[in-house]
Amino acid sequence: DTEYRLIAFNKAHNDEFFRVNGFTTKVGDIFPDLFIPEQAAVMRANMARALAGEAYKVEAVFGRAEFGQPCWEITYTPLRDAAGKVFGAFHQAHDISARLRAEAELQDAQDVLRQSQKLEVIGQLTGGVAHDFNNLLTVIKSSTDLLKRPDLAEARRGRYIEAISDTVDRAAKLTGQLLAFARRQTLQPKVFAACDSVRVLSEMLGTLTGSRIRVVTELPENDCFVNADPNQFDTALVNMAVNARDAMEGEGQLTVRVRAVERMPPVRAHPAVDGPFVAVSISDTGIGMTPETLGRIFEPFFTTKAVGQGTGLGLSQVFGFAKQSQGEVVVESVVGQGTTFTLYLPRVGGAIQAPERGERTPVVDGHGTCVLVVEDNVEVGTFATQALAELGFATVWAADAGEALAELADDAGRFDVVFTDVMMPGMNGVDLAREIGRRHPGLPVILTSGYSHVLAQTGTGGFELLQKPYSVEQLSRTLQAVARPDHPNRIGDE
Ligand code: ADP
Ligand code: MG
Repeated sequence: DTEYRLIAFNKAHNDEFFRVNGFTTKVGDIFPDLFIPEQAAVMRANMARALAGEAYKVEAVFGRAEFGQPCWEITYTPLRDAAGKVFGAFHQAHDISARLRAEAELQDAQDVLRQSQKLEVIGQLTGGVAHDFNNLLTVIKSSTDLLKRPDLAEARRGRYIEAISDTVDRAAKLTGQLLAFARRQTLQPKVFAACDSVRVLSEMLGTLTGSRIRVVTELPENDCFVNADPNQFDTALVNMAVNARDAMEGEGQLTVRVRAVERMPPVRAHPAVDGPFVAVSISDTGIGMTPETLGRIFEPFFTTKAVGQGTGLGLSQVFGFAKQSQGEVVVESVVGQGTTFTLYLPRVGGAIQAPERGERTPVVDGHGTCVLVVEDNVEVGTFATQALAELGFATVWAADAGEALAELADDAGRFDVVFTDVMMPGMNGVDLAREIGRRHPGLPVILTSGYSHVLAQTGTGGFELLQKPYSVEQLSRTLQAVARPDHPNRIGDE
């Protein structure tokens, strides 16, 4: 009743109450007061809600520790007299502990399964990377060993150095593909016409596929502008085209088609998305794929090709690139007939972008340009400052953002440009660049990074970025391109 006293109950109520509290109830008891203090407060509040006229359901624990404390689902219904006035409340409780336990066990089992699937994928991934990297390291190691031999002919020395340099490029490409799959790569998106890229690509597809594969290109009137990383776009198209070629075993037709569409179809449990998209599809008349193969093609290192023929990373790149660009990749395939991969990317208006920075000046010499190098890694910092010194740059090296700001506070005027790593303990490179923009406007900052979640999430904040690993040549060009143009330090450009 409105005084929280029991008016009536059934036998089940008393049996259950006894089971978890060790004594029974009787009509007239003030019900909340029968519970241990913290539960009494909860029960009183529950009943008050019902007595205030609310019908509702809650889950709560009631009972004494020594008898077990099950979780109950309790339904409250106000009791009203003929005039509609609340004179009490009806309370029905049901022990749901077993159900909750079963749900928790199921959840645990699913977590374990997910975890083991994740471990399996990570295992494949690390195994694959380790394998590929070890091959590359073997080449580098044996080249350096050979370089150490006395009386080495100049021609041979050149060859070994070339081998090391090529291998490093391949290793960088490998990490690039992995980062693309992990969607952790620093994309450098810009607005470009998909049709232009496809046109250029289809010209070289002929050489790629061989003479017995016909290449057909279907382009719309519309240029189809997208906002994405153009290099990754090209890579994705090449990856899909190479697969198409391989699927046709030397003979057939490869069709590249670009369309402007208003909707992205549902794919892999994601619903359809309305909006302007550009759809780029690559169709082949090749062997097609079974549903089992289809289910795994985007896994890194999944390949059905012979050792040395495939890395299994091509479609991982396509997938990662599509996702990170707010797009999708859709596959249709029929065994024995062929396959169509369609890459969807958000379509944008054809904004004209600033032209690329003036084509590369042949200058590699630093001409006394003064660089503040901010780098926490000792090897990289040593390498960068030494390389820059060789090229005629003057350098000051700071190990973190704090040191860099101190150098600048000391005398910012002596620097032409700041070259900073992104991932550093303390303030990161992007924040440092912003801070320098505030304190020393006009002093250019270049960021450098191999991988950074900061960049993957928030971009470069408009600052120039030099991807690691970089060559001495790239470093010098980038610095020269942005360093304060008419600074007294510079001993005249050519
Ligand atoms: P790789 O080409 O190195 O094997 P990918 O990630 O590019 O790695 O492709 C993975 C697998 O997907 C291929 O080994 C092949 O089995 C399948 N596949 C991809 N594209 C096609 C295609 N156009 N036709 C048939 N199978 C394909
Ligand atoms: Mg491939």
